[in-house]
Amino acid sequence: MSGRLVIVAGAPAAGKTTLALALGASLELPVITKDDFKEAIATPFATGDIAWSRQLGSAAYSAMFIVAERILAAGQGLVLESNFRRGMSDAPLQALARLAPTVVIVCRSPDALRHKRYEERAGTRHRVHIESAILAEWVSDDSETMIDIGSPRLIVDTTDGYSPSMDEIVAFARSATIPQAMKREWPVDWSERVRGKDCPMCAEGRLEVAHGSSRIFEGRVSDAYLVRNDVGQRGYSVVIWRGGRHVSDPTELSKDEASTYFDEVLRVGRAIEKHYRPIKMNFEMLGNSLPHLHTHVVPRYLDDGEPGHPPHFMRIDLQDEPKIPEQAYARDLTALRELLRD
Ligand SMILES: [Zn+2]
Repeated sequence: MSGRLVIVAGAPAAGKTTLALALGASLELPVITKDDFKEAIATPFATGDIAWSRQLGSAAYSAMFIVAERILAAGQGLVLESNFRRGMSDAPLQALARLAPTVVIVCRSPDALRHKRYEERAGTRHRVHIESAILAEWVSDDSETMIDIGSPRLIVDTTDGYSPSMDEIVAFARSATIPQAMKREWPVDWSERVRGKDCPMCAEGRLEVAHGSSRIFEGRVSDAYLVRNDVGQRGYSVVIWRGGRHVSDPTELSKDEASTYFDEVLRVGRAIEKHYRPIKMNFEMLGNSLPHLHTHVVPRYLDDGEPGHPPHFMRIDLQDEPKIPEQAYARDLTALRELLRD
């Protein structure tokens, strides 16, 4: 792995961008900043209010994380700069940190100085930054931006130049490693789990609501659930093997079991096709974290953001995704259950 990830964080006007650019030059790495994405995304739109700016910010984060992932997955490195927030940014940054040796550098300076710097540069920045609103709601406490994702972290005081020095910051960035705790490894009891040890899908029985998602189909050997999280793929459903015994891979099924299971999976797939009219259907049997046979049924759309590739959300933690609005979810449940009626 030749690439490395250098994350530069800090509150507004803490000197992040200047430091990120200097680091990029020293380490010969591209510098990817959220503001670049945000400004580019804003181009076709008329200037709006602070809510508009925050929406663009959210879009910019999504775009930036995908680009960063692609760069790191290709073995290349980058400097990633934004006013990342504790909690909100942790999961996507940790996902990136698993792809390459990573360090976090947090820029800090006294609040009065940040406020003064921000005021001074107001009006010189892109119209997407609604500076008056940010100044009106100025957050003097920068603890929210002191991100800690488990990778080695360096706090840099930017009050007057850099402390520690630029040379020391560069040396720290060069020392990046993947911490042991974040390396991906199969659990030590994996083979027992594959055989059914502590299997939550076996233990739960045939639920009407599983993991927050409602059942749309109760088959002979499976239950299908419409996933309640909004992963950006309307209609994403999971069919779970409920054939009365633990099965990890479909190769363990008898001919009759396999035929019944796949008939049921396809039946769910056809209902989803009919209701959502996707341009392609994906059926994914992975089970790499929970080895009990289940099939992800994923309708794909022209605008789903991952043409030519598996959907991005399969690699992230669904817990963090927002929920589908209640009315839309209820409407889809009714329609799918109707299509799946005997
Ligand atoms: Zn099981």
